[in-house]
Amino acid sequence: MTNKLTGGCYCGKIRYEISSEPNVVVHCHCNNCKRSVGAPFVTWAVLPETDVKYLNIEPTIYLTDNNVERGFCNQCGSSISYHKIGGDSIDITVGTFDDPNSVKPEKHIWDKRRIHWIHLDDGLPHFSEWSAGNNPIE
Ligand SMILES: [Zn+2]
Ligand SMILES: [Zn+2]
Repeated sequence: MTNKLTGGCYCGKIRYEISSEPNVVVHCHCNNCKRSVGAPFVTWAVLPETDVKYLNIEPTIYLTDNNVERGFCNQCGSSISYHKIGGDSIDITVGTFDDPNSVKPEKHIWDKRRIHWIHLDDGLPHFSEWSAGNNPIE
């Protein structure tokens, strides 16, 4: 990869650099993501945990009741990261990328929680829940 992916929170306190291409980029419609980020759905870049470097400080972690560490900026509130404890990947919000156009989403997950007024004509597969081991529903 020639250019590193870079990004950060709204206020700039948190800045990060990513040293690999994402494994996958997904739109997640689950209720936890909606609630956590405050948006109708959230676009995540899934990365090897070791390939995300925070340049100044790390995000503040909110540990959820399903063992997920959701990272955010404690100054401006931007949602930055998602990490399932025990997993070796970390997800970063594509909305905090300096150039979100540099990656391409591949699918929608948790479509069964999609808000009914969200209609997307992007041709990507939709999965009812997680995509692993499941077939798309459309
Ligand atoms: Zn901030
Ligand atoms: Zn989600």
